[in-house]
Amino acid sequence: MTPAPRSVVIDTDPGIDDALALMLALRAPSLPVELVTTVAGNVHVELASANARRVLALVQPAAVPVLAQGAARGLRRPMPIEGRVHGADGLGGLSGLRRRDGAPRYGVSDAPPVRAHAAARIARMAEHHGAGLTIVALGPLTNIARAVEQRPDAMRRVGHIVVMGGAVRVPGNVSAAAEFNIHADPHAARVVFDAGLSLTLVPLDVTRRVRLTPAFLSSVLGTSRTPAAQAVRHMAAHFLRRAGGAAGMALHDPLAVAVAIDPALVTLTPMTLAVETRGRHTSGMTLVQHEPAARRRPGVSIRVATAVDAERVLELFAEHVLVPETRRRRAGETAPGVIVLGSANTDFTVWAGRLPRPGETVLGADLRTGFGGKGANQAVAARRAGARVHFVGALGGDDHGTRYRQHLGGEGIDLSALGRRDDTGSGAALIVVDARGRNQIAVAPGANARVAPADLDALTPLLEGARVLGAQLETPLATVEEALRRAKRRGLVTVLNAAPAATLPRRLSRVVDVLVVNELEAQTLLGEPGPRGRSPRESVAALLERGYASVVVTLGARGVAWSDGGGLRRLSAHRVAALDTTGAGDAFVGYLLCALARARTLADAVVLANAAAALAVGGEGAQASIPVRGDVERLLRRARRKA
Ligand code: ADP
Repeated sequence: MTPAPRSVVIDTDPGIDDALALMLALRAPSLPVELVTTVAGNVHVELASANARRVLALVQPAAVPVLAQGAARGLRRPMPIEGRVHGADGLGGLSGLRRRDGAPRYGVSDAPPVRAHAAARIARMAEHHGAGLTIVALGPLTNIARAVEQRPDAMRRVGHIVVMGGAVRVPGNVSAAAEFNIHADPHAARVVFDAGLSLTLVPLDVTRRVRLTPAFLSSVLGTSRTPAAQAVRHMAAHFLRRAGGAAGMALHDPLAVAVAIDPALVTLTPMTLAVETRGRHTSGMTLVQHEPAARRRPGVSIRVATAVDAERVLELFAEHVLVPETRRRRAGETAPGVIVLGSANTDFTVWAGRLPRPGETVLGADLRTGFGGKGANQAVAARRAGARVHFVGALGGDDHGTRYRQHLGGEGIDLSALGRRDDTGSGAALIVVDARGRNQIAVAPGANARVAPADLDALTPLLEGARVLGAQLETPLATVEEALRRAKRRGLVTVLNAAPAATLPRRLSRVVDVLVVNELEAQTLLGEPGPRGRSPRESVAALLERGYASVVVTLGARGVAWSDGGGLRRLSAHRVAALDTTGAGDAFVGYLLCALARARTLADAVVLANAAAALAVGGEGAQASIPVRGDVERLLRRARRKA
């Protein structure tokens, strides 16, 4: 299996199928999209940037990527802009749609800012992440070619570059010979193909076989009227009117993103390719070069997708882009109810060469903002696991609070018990990360520290329909204790994740059904161990001794140990390439909450949580890396087949 990328760049010219591809990339937990670059092609480059922003506003990703604008023209000549299929705004008229009050339905927000120097930023990402970087190119290859010209060595170290483009053994779509992206800037394509990169080409040969039909859309989306559902429906309908028909709309760009998620979706054949740059009828043509083996240049073979499992691609697209919408739609009906009481912080992260010493200023890369805080992370995880989730906590009256609220709403989480404190800021974490991945974090708890027992009145109506309540220790202990007590009294299963590490009054164990801690938190709760430290078995036993009915101790890469009062049980971790363990514990707890709400046994719940946490360590960021249910089930199926 290809390891999940540590970081992802999407280079794009949205465009309808670019927009769908971007939605897929931003929703795929295994693709930590850090940079989105734009290039002219389907639309002129300013509009490409505006449309990328529109998609970001629609998807509201947990970590907002940096957006940088790139080439307005080709390497050697102006770019012919495609205006026909995608409509004047590039998105099939989406930007002109109005709400009843006259405001645009899919407006461009003012964030993130559009920065410049796309190619230099791509080159810098290549230098920084090397083999951990995946680049997905969905438009003309100008930005990628410029990055190759600037930093050829760094670009050759990039782990995986997936290019949607070319027509290898089939006719083109702009001319009999050429596909649009290659035709728009054949010189750039030549630079990229000849550079000896780790390149996968996803040409029309396969993209034409993956078709989004009106029938498929309505079978998955039904009559859902969420913004994303309506946007997809609108863009697809426009495209089909102009170019498709009942055979459906080819998912060219989404297939390239799908290949970045899972290369096994296509059959890859190594080939040496040439690009025609001149020719009145053949400019932009991609052809297999039949050179005698002896004359072939080493390192320029490209993996070309020659066959595709179209059904699985559609399934993946539906699971990430369409199904979350239907899940949201059904949220009020069948899913079991989980209440999460806890914190929500906006994370502000700067990657710098090294951590500052006291009094020192260091210059770093661009600021990255993401959504975090243990409570909200666990609520999002329980939601992605499929539960109906109510989040209880508080945000400030500032813009960060407003944005966070929108984000949680977008995840489909009920916010009726999320307070707003206008007299204080929202919780924030200031994070500096050095080149070795070590960090320094200062947290301003803001509104999180103000969630008082008196605020729990909002909890009462929720206790009625929920089965499980989960809490952690980033909100005041008195409030946590009171919430656990009320939930316990109403017969809910209560789960306490005693994080961050703290000592707790003994009486708390009476209102906790399941205690979840990592090893450090277990040691802190139990106080100083003997000279040998404590084994997981001893920690679990000692915590049961304190009165907790069930105890789960997570052991990082060694898995998990637990007991519900019977014997001690152990489960090893799934073997994954660990990239970033931030939020692994939160993914674990969120999935555990959902499983317990479905009346699963603790053993079953731990199995599910252990798989979800493994996927979370394979991706970067706290919430961005929390997997969706389908991916967790797939990992478990694979693990069972191997066993
Ligand atoms: P926390 O993130 O709260 O410190 P742990 O480090 O114990 O908690 O991790 C929680 C869970 O995440 C583990 O029980 C395990 O299921 C999973 N996990 C953590 N690290 C890895 C890893 N390197 N490989 C696979 N799974 C991991």
